Amino acid sequence: MTTEQNMVSRVIPVDPFDLVIFGATGDLAQRKILPGLFRRHVAGQMPTDARVIGAARSDLSSAEFRAMARETIAAHVDPALQDAALLEDFLSRLDYVALDVQAGTGWEALRSLVRPDVVQAFYFSVAPVLFGDLAEGLQAQGIAGPGARIVVEKPFGRDLASAQALNATLAAHFEESQIYRIDHYLGKETVQNLMAVRFANILFEPLWNAQYIDHVQITVAETVGVGGRGAYYDRSGALRDMVQNHMMQLLCLIAMEPPWHFDPDAVRDEKLKVIRALQPVGRGDIVRGQYLAGGGGPGYLEDAGNPSSDTESYIALRVHVANWRWKGTPFYLRTGKRLRARTSEIAITFKEPPHSIFDDARGWRENVLVIRLQPNEGINLKVMIKEPGPGGMRLVQVPLDMSFATALGAEGADMPDAYERLIMDVIRGNQTLFMRGDEVEAAWAWTDPIIAGWQARGDRPQPYDAGSSGPEDALMLMHRDGRRWREIRE
Ligand code: NAP
Repeated sequence: MTTEQNMVSRVIPVDPFDLVIFGATGDLAQRKILPGLFRRHVAGQMPTDARVIGAARSDLSSAEFRAMARETIAAHVDPALQDAALLEDFLSRLDYVALDVQAGTGWEALRSLVRPDVVQAFYFSVAPVLFGDLAEGLQAQGIAGPGARIVVEKPFGRDLASAQALNATLAAHFEESQIYRIDHYLGKETVQNLMAVRFANILFEPLWNAQYIDHVQITVAETVGVGGRGAYYDRSGALRDMVQNHMMQLLCLIAMEPPWHFDPDAVRDEKLKVIRALQPVGRGDIVRGQYLAGGGGPGYLEDAGNPSSDTESYIALRVHVANWRWKGTPFYLRTGKRLRARTSEIAITFKEPPHSIFDDARGWRENVLVIRLQPNEGINLKVMIKEPGPGGMRLVQVPLDMSFATALGAEGADMPDAYERLIMDVIRGNQTLFMRGDEVEAAWAWTDPIIAGWQARGDRPQPYDAGSSGPEDALMLMHRDGRRWREIRE
């Protein structure tokens, strides 16, 4: 079979479904969920009798909700995909119910719309404080059938106790097999490819351990500040907002043992073992920062509306996984706002060859496997070759580059967004890319003592320049180990 034949698009329609989006008038539904569903419709994945029911407090008719969806699709979907007939067909599948979860109004209208004999998915795109009432309402009103699925958004708790309470609330109404805790990082093509690269090739796995890997860097850098959601962010901070969930998930996929099968519980069992093997992080293993005003933008304290805030907009950590495979290989994690460039990547740096046969090794660099999540999703392996041309044996590092957009042609360029991929997984009933309750709790159990330590000591984040790579001490965190961060650039 040729490469092209292998890569022919294989969009398989899912079973007929009713997807109820609670919070359908909100930012996430408008920016991500509705545009994503439309893209799946254009790709031919939505069966003829799939329906999407928006629910929120706003008093809208279905026609008004469709008009809202039309606008948001126009704004958020690539114009090349905006086929008029397909759009009309998609909009005809939308309905709307005005429902106030706290007031308990609107449930009967919803019950009359949701069909019992198709896949039922309920997306909780609302503040977590409403999750309990929603879960209870769906059961008490007799709307959710035995196979119904609920999708819950982050944040899933703000510490171990609140995550446990939330898990208990959901568990009172739904089985774990019905609960889909979404982490959109897991829906990214490259993140899933990390598993394919590791477990579908013989090439990497024998080297995937402390004997051959010097260290791992995970970077999630943003150029934006927290303006607009400063008050919310100030109660959270980079550790809670990014590390406990997204970066922890990436770390798990790199560090986990091969699951016996690509199966939801097999994969999640292995991820859980990694989280449980994380060593407590010492004070010297963490650097926190707050961005200063600059580049035409205010500083963190102003953005947060809290001049005495000690919440971090940047964090760098050195983390150790205490198990046989990773003993001695540090994982460096960093994430922050108002940094030099917007980029997310995982870089796996291999060790030196045990012996160099070359007299002149001046050009020598370590092999690095870089997995780019954004922008330009792709995988890049840096290898040494001979510098071309005369002049003896001089070494030079070159990238073996696989950008998905170019390697996969049109299909690669049109990769589904993380949200739409994950929503289709919910309809298919595949929980592999969703966090299990015990995973979330284990992640908080590791995070809580770090935060408690800051609070007990009254630690304050260090200021850093907007548009920089973060606080000076973060550089020192690596330099002390004789290593350096990769440059933050797009
Ligand atoms: P949002 O813009 O504030 O929207 C909230 C939605 O909830 C609105 O549709 C609102 O309806 C509805 N709502 C509020 N109170 C309600 C009630 N009592 N009964 C029924 N509906 C009610 O929030 P969002 O940004 O979309 O976020 C939704 C969830 O996703 C949150 O848990 C958030 O943490 C999470 N999340 C969001 C993003 C993002 O990019 N936005 C990213 C990750 C996670 P009305 O406006 O009609 O009152």
